Amino acid sequence: MIPAAFDYVRATSVEDAIRLLEQHGDDAKLLAGGHSLIPMMKLRLAAPAVLIDIAGIPQLDGIRVSGNRVTIGALTKHAALAASDDLRKNAGALYDAANDLGDPQVRNRGTIGGASAHGDPSADYPAVLQALEATFTLTGKSGRRELRAADFFRGMFDTALDPHEVLTQIAFDAAPNSAYVKFHHPASHYAVVGVAAALTLSGGKIGSARVAITGIGDSAFRASGVEAALQGVTASDEAAVRAACAGAARGVTARSDTFASASYRTAMADVFAARAVTRAASSR
Ligand SMILES: Cc1cc2nc3c(=O)[nH]c(=O)nc-3n(C[C@H](O)[C@H](O)[C@H](O)COP(=O)(O)OP(=O)(O)OC[C@H]3O[C@@H](n4cnc5c(N)ncnc54)[C@H](O)[C@@H]3O)c2cc1C
Repeated sequence: MIPAAFDYVRATSVEDAIRLLEQHGDDAKLLAGGHSLIPMMKLRLAAPAVLIDIAGIPQLDGIRVSGNRVTIGALTKHAALAASDDLRKNAGALYDAANDLGDPQVRNRGTIGGASAHGDPSADYPAVLQALEATFTLTGKSGRRELRAADFFRGMFDTALDPHEVLTQIAFDAAPNSAYVKFHHPASHYAVVGVAAALTLSGGKIGSARVAITGIGDSAFRASGVEAALQGVTASDEAAVRAACAGAARGVTARSDTFASASYRTAMADVFAARAVTRAASSR
C-alpha cells in the first residue's frame, strides 16, 4: 500500500496546469482531491512520475446560478454540492448524489471534476450529469472545447479527456424536478445501482423524462425505453410509474461481483428507476 516514488508540483492556474502537463508528458497526472488517484497509486494500479496538484486553483471552485443555468467549477468539492441550497432547488439530482456519496472524509476532499474525470463505472455523477444533460468544458493548449455528458463518459474508467487537457467546468439547465437514488455498497457507498431522473411536469403528468443509470454496465447510460414510456404518465400513479420503468437496463450487459449478481443489478434498476421518478416528481 505504498505508492511508487513520484515528484510533486503545484499549478497556480489552468494555464500553468496545461503547461506542466505538456512539459511532463504522459508521465504526469493531475491531482485534485486525491480520493481516487491516491488509492490507485497505493495499489500500484497507477504510477505517475509527476503529480500536478490543481487543488489550489481558485477559478475552478464554486457553484454559480445565473438565470436558468447552473455552472459548477471542476474543483468544487462534494461537501459544497451537498450543502448548496441553490443546488437543492435547481438540481435535486446532483444535491442528492453529493449527500449520499462516500463518507465525510471523501466528501470534504473529493471534487466533481475528479469524480467525472476518473470515469468509475459505479460512480454517482456520471448518471446524474447525463440525466441533467450537462455540458463539460475541457481546456487544453489549443483552447477550450465543450462536450455533452453522453459524449464525455465513454466506458469503464474512460472519458473523452485528452491527457493534456483539464476539465474546468460542468454546466446544465436547472432541473427543479430531478432526483437521484441509489442502492449503495455498504462499505464504500459507491452505487451498486444508482438512478437519476429529471422530469418536466404539466398538470401532474410527466411531459418529458430523462433517466440515467450507473453501477450496472461499463459506464452510466440513458434508459431511453423508460424515458419514452414515462411520457404522459401521471406522476403520482405509482403502479403506472413502476410499469413504465420495467426493463430499465434492457440491452445493457450487467456486471457481476461478490456483492451483487448481474441479474440482481438488472432487477434493481427497475426498482430504483421508479423510486427516482417518484422522488423527482415531488417538488422541494
Ligand atoms: C472510501 C471512498 C468512498 C467513495 N465513495 C464514492 C461514492 O459513493 N460515489 C462516488 O461517485 N464516488 C465515490 N468515491 C470516489 C470519490 O468521489 C472521489 O473523490 C472521486 O472519484 C475523485 O475525485 P478527486 O477530486 O478525489 O480526484 P483525484 O483522485 O485527484 O483524481 C482522479 C482522476 O481524475 C483526474 N482529474 C482530477 N481532476 C481533474 C480535472 N479537473 N481535469 C482533468 N482530470 C482531472 C486525475 O488526474 C485522476 O486521474 C469514493 C472514494 C473513496 C476513497
